[in-house]
Amino acid sequence: MPITYHTEHINHRMIQQTIFHTLANLYIRDLKGWLEKWDIHVWDVNDTRTAYFGHIKTTSGQKINPDMPSGVTGKYRMDLYLHDSQNVFKARENSDRVMHEVCHAILIGTPDFVSGVHNNINNRFTASFWYWDRFKYTKFYLSIIDIRKYTVQNLNRD
Ligand SMILES: [Zn+2]
Repeated sequence: MPITYHTEHINHRMIQQTIFHTLANLYIRDLKGWLEKWDIHVWDVNDTRTAYFGHIKTTSGQKINPDMPSGVTGKYRMDLYLHDSQNVFKARENSDRVMHEVCHAILIGTPDFVSGVHNNINNRFTASFWYWDRFKYTKFYLSIIDIRKYTVQNLNRD
């Protein structure tokens, strides 16, 4: 899976599983093919070296706020600015942002790229998965923005 981590503490399995289960639950059949096309980078939203954050605009055009996870999704490139933490509440915020950007990624090249995600931000369904969290397997409930009505239309799209 082409994910590059520029972080120290983030649980890689949690990020991978969030991406995987978001795609699978939104009817992306060829997960491997999908992921091979994408270059995904995970950054620490509080990284002091990344002073250039000031010039970056999120997928919907906002500035990056160091207090909360954000993301930039372009054609086959995704940059995720996340809490570099293993804290369970921070992990949940991170996961929600990763899921959100994957939704944008699924809709890229369609008229619903931004609005399809934001208009359905409270229209969600839940999937769950297990991941290894340092000492034990932990069950995680992933709340997914329901963009299935668009992904069904797009199933035959490249
Ligand atoms: Zn968005």
